[in-house]
Order: sequence, then C-alpha cells, then structure tokens
Amino acid sequence: MKRSHLIKPILDHNYPTVSHGSGIYLYDMDGNQYIDGSSGAVTASIGHGVLEVVDAMTEQASKVSFAYRSHFTSEAAETLAQKLSELAPGDLNWTFFVNSGSEATETAMKIAIQHWQEKGYERKNRIVSRWTSYHGITMGALSMSGHVLRRKRFVPLLEDFPGISAPYCYRCPYNSEPSSCRLQCANELETAIQRIGSENIAAFIAEPIIGASAGAVTPPDGYYQRIKEICERYDILFIADEVMTGIGRTGKMFAMEHWGVTPDIIALGKGMSAGYTPMAATLVSDRVMEPILKGSKSIMAGHTYSANPLSAAVSLEVLNYIERKNLVQEAEEKGQYLLQQLHGLAERFDIIGDVRGKGLLLGLEFVSNRISKKSFRLQNGITTRIVNKAFEKGLLIYPASGAIEGIEGDAVIISPPLVISNEEIDRLVKMLEASIEELQ
Ligand code: PLP
Repeated sequence: MKRSHLIKPILDHNYPTVSHGSGIYLYDMDGNQYIDGSSGAVTASIGHGVLEVVDAMTEQASKVSFAYRSHFTSEAAETLAQKLSELAPGDLNWTFFVNSGSEATETAMKIAIQHWQEKGYERKNRIVSRWTSYHGITMGALSMSGHVLRRKRFVPLLEDFPGISAPYCYRCPYNSEPSSCRLQCANELETAIQRIGSENIAAFIAEPIIGASAGAVTPPDGYYQRIKEICERYDILFIADEVMTGIGRTGKMFAMEHWGVTPDIIALGKGMSAGYTPMAATLVSDRVMEPILKGSKSIMAGHTYSANPLSAAVSLEVLNYIERKNLVQEAEEKGQYLLQQLHGLAERFDIIGDVRGKGLLLGLEFVSNRISKKSFRLQNGITTRIVNKAFEKGLLIYPASGAIEGIEGDAVIISPPLVISNEEIDRLVKMLEASIEELQ
C-alpha cells in the first residue's frame, strides 16, 4: 500500500482525530471533550449535531443532491434566496450562491467591476480595502486582504489593493481616543480616492468587525456612516464582507445593522450553513444589478457547486433554526454576559490589553506592557502559547495574528456557538483563565 499524506495546516503537528460533536462540544477518538469556544473558524454558530439539519440534508439528498445551475434551478435554492432577501436590509434582493467566503468576496469584487463596465465605465475596476483585514485566500480575495503573512509569498501576483488604515482604536493610527476622534481613519478613504481617482475605483470593501487579522476590532461610532457618505459622494460601491459577522454572530442578523448602514453588496459565508456544508453567498442590491439586467444579463462568475440543492436545503434549515431558537437575540444577550466575564479576566491579568467585539464575536489582545501597549513577539508569541495551552485543557479559541508586519496583533477570538448557556460560558472562561494563569 502507498503511504498517503493528508496535507494539514502544520505539517509536523499531531492533530487529534475528531469523533463527533454535540452542542458546544467536540470529542476526539480518545474520548477527550473540547469546548468549541471559537465555533471552529467562527463557523459552527448553531452548535454541533443538530438533528433538524441532518434531517433536512437527508431529505434533500434523497430527492436530488446536485443539478447543474446552467440546467436547473431548485426549490431549495429559490427558497433560500427569497429568505436571504427578506432578512437583508434595503434592496439587497439578489443572491449569487458560492461555496466559501473567499468566493463570496471575490464574486462581490467581480460584480462591482461588471456593474460599472455595463454602465460604460471600463476603467472603474480597482477595489480599495484596508490594512489589517482578511477577505479570503483566493487570488482576488487575497489581493483585497491587508494581511501581511497571508499575502507574503504571492505579493508579485497580487493587485495593490489595500489602501487605507483600519479603524483599530486600541492602536489608533492617529493616536486619538474613540470618544473624541474625528474619524480620520474613515477620511483616509477620501484621500485614497482622490489619489487613485474615483474614475478608476469600483468599490470599497470592509469587514464590519475585523476578524481573523486582528481579533474582533470594532470601529468607533459614526465610522461606517462616514464611509458610506464618502462612497456615495464619489460614486463607489460599498461591499460589506460579512463572511464572519453575518447571520446573527454579532447580535444582529447583519453586523452593519449596528450602524444603520446598508451596503450595496454583502458577502456571506461561515454562519450561513454553520459548518454543516460548504455554502456562501454574495447579496447584491437592485441598483447594482440594474445595468447588468439591461446589459449582458449574466454575471461573469460562478462555480460548479454554486447553488447546489443539497447545500441550499442545509443552509435554509440553519436559517430557520436560528429564527426558531431566537439565536440572534441570544447572541446579543450571551455576548454581553461573556464580555463582562472577559473584562473580569482583564482586571486579573495585566497581559490583557484590550477586550472588544460585539455579540458573540469577541476578542482579547495581549500586550507585554499595558502602558506602552508593547506587543509580544509574533514568532512563538503569546497568541500561539495561549491557544495551545487552552487546547491542552480542552478549550478551542481562534488565533488572530500575523496581519501586521513584525510583531503586533497578538489577539484571540472567542466566539462560541450562539446556543451556549451562561453555565457553559462560565466553564469556558474558567478554562481560559487557567490557560492564561499557567503562562504567567
Ligand atoms: N472574509 C472574512 C471576513 C473571513 O473572516 C474569511 C475567513 O476567515 C473569509 C472572507 C474567507 O472565507 P473562507 O475561508 O470560507 O474562504
């Protein structure tokens, strides 16, 4: 027999073999229990082992699992598109299904460019994005991502997209305080547009709350209102990358609702199917679709598995489950409880410099000195050590680092399934506390 190798994230690391999951818990083949304190990569939002989803999956698979979207539409995909447009704000009534968050943001970029082309603006094809951001790993999505470590090997192939600073209040690029700042980081968008020329820009893309690259970095009030004003003034589309924040994670169905701002395009993934199947989507407004409908009548994007009936049925049941169990409200309430506990940890441990986030998308940033906010070194830094220690104790949390060249960004994301109870939160926090304590 040939010796085969599954390529895993770290090639020489021994990963436990997962056996099964139930609620907020995962179990390995040796019988160890883990609290899924990050819902994997902020994905398993309804928890593991939900039988209603398994039933929906079985029912759809027994009818038809795959039919190619150039040949058929399906009831499951049509109903899911209808559901998403009902949930979405404003006139985001069009849905393009894809299979991952990277495909969703890359499709958003392509639709924005196509929108302008079909209106006769051939040169409006650049995207402005922010440093300290992550929009996905495929080349278009990576081009937009301001994540140094993930870009590094491919820089010669990437478009030079990230253009402005992130609204990273804890490390404000302008040394202002959130309470008194003049939103210079948002105004940077205007400066970038004037430098590049609005005639060359299709869209601006941003994660409502910055996830993988910085650990739940939340902008100051008024930030997105200012961003939207600038986009409108210069005729540039606004894409919200809600792959991590969307579908209830932050205590609203879409995180942009926290600021009352309606984007032109929304990218969704992760929580849309809560890990039960690969499924993601790009939601598009009537206004953005209009020239395409009058013009070529076809979006130049798509993948073999786009809108496959099986994934659509699974995602539909996930959305229905979230509604039935009132999980958006739960995310808001449980998030407040968890946030309070994390602030408690920050009182105990000096190495916690910042506690942030909304709903059940929360982050901790570690510093070696609270006053100077000096980071730990990135290589074998505190993030890796805390994440590994927590893992040993049976708690899964998500490292968010490497976005900024050198040292900064020693953060973790705490984002358990939205079904977590207060008792389970207490348990999670105790395990986190013990992990930090052992490293002190
Ligand atoms: N956009 C955001 C905001 C993300 O957090 C991620 C993944 O972490 C992506 C896009 C890429 O999604 P995927 O890994 O499903 O391709």
